[in-house]
Amino acid sequence: MTCRPPFRAPPSPTTATALPEALGWIDEGLEAIRRDGLERPRRVRTGRQGRRVELDGRSLVNFGSNDYLGYAGDVRLTKAASRAACAEGFGAGASPLVSGHSSTHAALEAALAQLLGTGDALLFPSGFAANAATIAALVGPGDIVVSDERNHASIIDGCRLSRADVAVFPHRDMAAAERLLKGSAARRKLVVTDSLFSMDGTMAPLDDLAEVSARHGAMLLVDEAHATGVFGARGSGLIEETGTADGVHVRVGTLSKALGAAGGFVAGHPRLVDWLRHSARAWVFSTAHPPAVAGAALRAVELLGEEPQRRTALLDRATAFRDRLRAAGLDLGDAASQIVPVIVGSAERAVALAARLADAGLFVPAIRPPSVPAGGSLVRASLAWHHTDDDLDRLLDALARSLA
Ligand code: PMP
Repeated sequence: MTCRPPFRAPPSPTTATALPEALGWIDEGLEAIRRDGLERPRRVRTGRQGRRVELDGRSLVNFGSNDYLGYAGDVRLTKAASRAACAEGFGAGASPLVSGHSSTHAALEAALAQLLGTGDALLFPSGFAANAATIAALVGPGDIVVSDERNHASIIDGCRLSRADVAVFPHRDMAAAERLLKGSAARRKLVVTDSLFSMDGTMAPLDDLAEVSARHGAMLLVDEAHATGVFGARGSGLIEETGTADGVHVRVGTLSKALGAAGGFVAGHPRLVDWLRHSARAWVFSTAHPPAVAGAALRAVELLGEEPQRRTALLDRATAFRDRLRAAGLDLGDAASQIVPVIVGSAERAVALAARLADAGLFVPAIRPPSVPAGGSLVRASLAWHHTDDDLDRLLDALARSLA
C-alpha cells in the first residue's frame, strides 16, 4: 500500500500577538517554564512510525516511540482498520450504551478478555480515560487509595477525581505500602500501580503487592500500559509473566503502545466490568472510539499470537543492550525492560544530550520534570522489535561519547 502524506504541515501559529488581559497570567507561567528549562516543543512527524521517524523534516532512528512491536505503521493494521470502517463507518456516532458499540468493538472486548484470561473486558477511548474513570468508579469519599509515587498521571488524576484519601508510598516500597494499609480504617481500600513504569523502565513487585493487598482486604489495580504486548508467554503483560493474575482484581491496559492502535481497556471479573459499565463516567459519557481503531487493535491482538518472536527478540536484545550500557558506566537506575533510561540529573543536561544524539541521527527524547522527579532527568530510549544491531551500536557509541 503506497500512500502519500495527506497534508503539508502549515506554519506554526504566531505567538506574537498580545494575550487578552484576563489570560495575562499565562505569560508569566510560560516564562517560568522557559526559565526552568522545561519548555516542550512539539515536532511534526511526516510518514509512519517505524524504525526511522521523520520529525520536522529530519529523518532519525526512532528511539522515541511506544511502538514496541512495530505495529503502529504496519499495513496489516491499516487494512484491518479500512475493513472495519468500510463495514461500520468511520465515526462511532454515540457512546457505547446508546448506539456506539459496534460488532468490531464487541469482538475486540472478547479477544482482550481471552488474551488476559479474564471473564470480561471493557474498551475506553484512551488508556488515560480507563485509569481515571476506573479508579473514580471503585473508590470515593471515605475510602483510601494507596499509590506508588511513580504512577502515571492518569492514575494520579483518577485518585484525585475519586475524592478518596490518597496515600502515596515511595517507589516499590512494600513495607511503606503495608504500613499505609494497616493504618487505615477506610471503608474500601485500593492499591494502584503501573506494572512497568513508563519513565524509568522498572517493574512493580506484583507478587508482593498482591500479597499485601490480600492481607489487608484491598482491591489491587495494575496498569499494564507499557507491558501489554511485550511481556508474558501470550503477550498479555507482566501479570501473566509473573503468574499473579489471581491476586490482581483490576487489569488496565492500552491499545496505543505495543498494539499500535489507540484506546484503553479494563479487564476482570464480569461483575466488575458490569459495575464499570454503570459507573465509569468516561465510558458512559464519551463516544466509543471509531470501529476502525477497534479493527486495527483486534488485528494487533491476533498478531500477538501469530508473531511471539517479536516480543522475545525485543526483550533479549534489550537485556543485552542494558548490560552493555551498564558496562560502559552509564546510570540506568533499576531499568529492566525495553524502556532504557539514561539518567543525567538536570533538565538542561538531558536536553543537551538529546540534542547531541539527534546530531548523531538518533531520536531519543529528553524526559524532565514533571514526568520525573527534579534532579532525575534522563533521556529515554524505547527499544523496539525493528531496531537493528547497528542502530543499537550507534546509540551506545553516541551515548558513551556524549557523556565521556
Ligand atoms: N498508563 C501509562 C503507564 C502510560 O504511560 C500511558 C500513556 N503514556 C497511559 C496509561 C495512557 O494511555 P493512552 O496513551 O492510551 O491514553
